Amino acid sequence: MTALATAAPTLAERTARVADVLAEHAREVDDSATFPVASLDALRESGLMGLLVPVEHGGLGGDLADLARTAAELGGACLSTAMIWAMHGQQVAAIAAHAGPRLRADLLPRIARGEVYVASVTSERGKGGHLLTAEAPLRPEGDRLRIERDAPIVTGGAVADGFLVTMRASPEAGHDDVSLVYADRGQLTATPGRGGWNPMGMRGTHSVPLRITGDVPADQLVGAPGGFRAVATRTFVPAGHIGWAACWLGAARGALSMVLGMIRDPRTRGSFDPSSELLRRRLARARLDLDTVAALLAQAIRDAADATDPEAPAVQLRLNGLKVHAAERCSAVVDELVELTGLRHGYMRDSALPLERVHRDLRSASLNYANDRLYDANGAIALLDRDVTLAWAGRP
Ligand SMILES: Cc1cc2nc3c(=O)[nH]c(=O)nc-3n(C[C@H](O)[C@H](O)[C@H](O)COP(=O)(O)OP(=O)(O)OC[C@H]3O[C@@H](n4cnc5c(N)ncnc54)[C@H](O)[C@@H]3O)c2cc1C
Repeated sequence: MTALATAAPTLAERTARVADVLAEHAREVDDSATFPVASLDALRESGLMGLLVPVEHGGLGGDLADLARTAAELGGACLSTAMIWAMHGQQVAAIAAHAGPRLRADLLPRIARGEVYVASVTSERGKGGHLLTAEAPLRPEGDRLRIERDAPIVTGGAVADGFLVTMRASPEAGHDDVSLVYADRGQLTATPGRGGWNPMGMRGTHSVPLRITGDVPADQLVGAPGGFRAVATRTFVPAGHIGWAACWLGAARGALSMVLGMIRDPRTRGSFDPSSELLRRRLARARLDLDTVAALLAQAIRDAADATDPEAPAVQLRLNGLKVHAAERCSAVVDELVELTGLRHGYMRDSALPLERVHRDLRSASLNYANDRLYDANGAIALLDRDVTLAWAGRP
């Protein structure tokens, strides 16, 4: 008897299976502010940790549209776990596009097999959240690089298998001369830093302070020495903003879908009046906000795929605008849904609808790389585009 070859599951099938696990654990990881170990195990098993790993290295060979679709589905199940996964995807995108051949050949297959979950270390005491500067320097020691880095907030820092870290390129380098370096957990000593993790929302991300020290071979730089700016512009920021925005959009879409289900459910229909003008207006506003975020997200994905000049002002404006707009509007949608569903269904922690949790989670979106920083950047970039080049009016 010949065994029938089973077709590999589609991306949608993999995502749907994992989303059930995330949803099952969402409340518990929020209550305890602990890392969603079972959900990460399911992601490791599913192949999704290697979504952005090229096929020749054993991955699924996905692109930014796949990242966004998957992040949105996961975001509707558990926003903390979705962000953990999307941030890992952002790190993998940078490694796949900019690491040297030895690191790619060693690391990418391990990521594809679900063995390596990569955490992000960009924030640093002293410089705050500013992405393109660094304080602590990499120190060359023969053919190795010495890492001594304070890391005040590292999502999944206690469980990650590897870290992608921004550092000043050398002790002599300026603060905007930044390198990106990869380290396996086994190459580092990671000790808990000052403070813990007891935030308002995104509690399951378990984003802890760490102090990391160790050394790695010099070919574990991702991009050229001092080349983080190019990695950031081409890959790191597009994958980051697209992945985060998709997570937030998925969480807000999931919330709206649940509220619509409740309004239409015969058992709760009496609690809501679908002919109420106020209710209809609130639903229309929520839907419009989600549609505008989705449209900007789709355009940012097209920009990232098409742009020959990723630094073109119109491209930068939309990419930063996506992050800011998604953070504001997705949070506003869920706030409005709390208002619509009221104290019993929208505000209680033990309500059947998880609006209270999603509301707290989405409150972090404007802070997760400060919207203020991006407004400031976009104001300066807008001055460079006197023609006000909009996407529908032709290519930037
Ligand atoms: C859930 C979550 C997970 C995270 N995970 C990680 C992680 O894994 N790794 C990591 O490195 N970091 C992580 N971060 C940190 C994040 O990337 C940002 O660096 C951090 O949230 C910024 O913190 P901040 O607001 O203190 O700093 P800053 O960005 O320095 O801002 C400080 C204050 O100054 C204001 N401000 C800043 N710039 C300007 C300006 N130009 N004009 C006016 N006002 C300004 C801001 O609004 C803010 O009030 C995470 C954050 C969150 C919320």
